Amino acid sequence: MLSDSDSAAADFWDGMRELAAAATRHQDEELFGALHKIGRAVTSGGLPIPTGGQFVPCPVCRAVTGQPCINTPGHPLNDDFHPERVELGEKVMAELAPIP
Ligand SMILES: [Zn+2]
Repeated sequence: MLSDSDSAAADFWDGMRELAAAATRHQDEELFGALHKIGRAVTSGGLPIPTGGQFVPCPVCRAVTGQPCINTPGHPLNDDFHPERVELGEKVMAELAPIP
């Protein structure tokens, strides 16, 4: 069973995913900027990010936090995200580092 803080973290990232989906739907740069600030603030406090790379910026296509990856020649997408981005997300999570 999840502890209260695990379940609060899961709710937090669920909310972040909903915001990211809305930002994507409306192509809302300000909302993406806010997602990045919120993500960086909570990860600076030691909250781990979920796996998958959605909450780190992409080093390949420069998609920002929360934004889906953009098809880039020579860099095939693995599901919705570049493998390099997923790797960066795993590194951030393993080191409990803030979102770059
Ligand atoms: Zn990308």
